Amino acid sequence: MSDPNPCLDCGMCCVHFRVSFYWGEADDAPGGFVPAELTEKLNLHLRCMNGTNEVPRRCVALAGQPGEQVSCTIYDRRPTPCREFPSHEADGSPNRKCNALRAQIGLPALQPLAAAELSG
Ligand code: SF4
Ligand code: SF4
Repeated sequence: MSDPNPCLDCGMCCVHFRVSFYWGEADDAPGGFVPAELTEKLNLHLRCMNGTNEVPRRCVALAGQPGEQVSCTIYDRRPTPCREFPSHEADGSPNRKCNALRAQIGLPALQPLAAAELSG
């Protein structure tokens, strides 16, 4: 069996990528949902999560220690790129970018999901 949520001891995507998204996702725009106070303006169209536009990167919304135990403090209000970066592809194969990031901190590679574990 695979770990049902391999992200809980990883968090590497939250300290590796600049997490940028359409400004209208921030909650100071009509219909927005990402806490605007946790974001910074990049240009007329984009914002990013605070802490992800600098090196070393670390999203301000990340709690815990990558490689040990982590959580997203705005999980239900996280922006689109976070929602669209999966640990596994639709066919159950591991996201290769995840495995490359996990290897950087010595975490085991994700394994393919069994058919019974695929959603849908
Ligand atoms: S890098 Fe992949 S496995 Fe690690 S927290 Fe992000 S989505 Fe999950
Ligand atoms: S908003 Fe949450 S999921 Fe997205 S980068 Fe920040 S901590 Fe990670």
